[in-house]
Amino acid sequence: MSLDPNTNPYRGLLPDLPAYACTNCGHWQRWPAPGPLTCPVCADVRNALPEHGFEFVTDKQADELVTGFWRPTAVDGVTEFGTEPRFGLDSSGWVIETDSGLVGFECAPWYTADMLAELRRMAAGKGGFGVLAASHVHGYGALWQLQQELEPRVVCVGVEDLEWTKAFRVTWPADDVLVLAPDLTLHRTGGHFPGHSVLHDSRRGVLFCGDSLKVDLDPDGTPVALSAHKAFHAQIPLSHGELRQYLAVVGALDFGTVATPFEIVPGITTDHVVHLVRRLLAGPPDAAPVPLEEL
Ligand SMILES: [Zn+2]
Ligand SMILES: [Zn+2]
Repeated sequence: MSLDPNTNPYRGLLPDLPAYACTNCGHWQRWPAPGPLTCPVCADVRNALPEHGFEFVTDKQADELVTGFWRPTAVDGVTEFGTEPRFGLDSSGWVIETDSGLVGFECAPWYTADMLAELRRMAAGKGGFGVLAASHVHGYGALWQLQQELEPRVVCVGVEDLEWTKAFRVTWPADDVLVLAPDLTLHRTGGHFPGHSVLHDSRRGVLFCGDSLKVDLDPDGTPVALSAHKAFHAQIPLSHGELRQYLAVVGALDFGTVATPFEIVPGITTDHVVHLVRRLLAGPPDAAPVPLEEL
């Protein structure tokens, strides 16, 4: 992999139209000026519509609205990149150290120059930044920007979710199972979105679970309840068929920590998720949180 812009294999392939972010959900679109009229993510059943109409900001405006941060997480070798104040869905970008370099999973809503400089510094010392992937569109953040700036050789999203990826270029559409790096494997769960995929770090026992799970935290950050949905905002549950698929995939993965696009939560285990899904399968579809002590 090279960080030399002169050798960018995607030069000329990436759209060079300006980028606009929806102020309601943060979804980025490349669009001819003066920008799009609607946001497909907000228009989708899984999100809320903006109460007072659609508004979009340019990349320059986004850069003025937020400051960036990065910090170590509870998991050794996993660094969180994020922005403040809240922008869009307020996702975090996880940067995972592996034996074959850094892997990015999910992305922050925007990357400031400082964040990009830190990523380049990390990449130089840790074998490059070769792979960038995301669970589904709610975790994309400014993925397009990282592809443009860091030029990972692989940009990977579940093939059934390609319709959401127009702001960047997927170089490796994933099927059901794809090894992204040693001990780091992407598994399609479907459910929340058809191509929704989770990333299992078998060495660290972490499931980067996308929105397959919603974790309720108490004010001091302790997990208290778990739920699973098709649509969190509208409280639409997963179907039983989707839950069975989810159980088959996630039940076979060994983990003791989960990382959603928003937080890392130590202490959520394979058993918790298996018990949650079995309980949901035992009754009518239900999106309500289940207390962790009952799982
Ligand atoms: Zn939106
Ligand atoms: Zn989602």
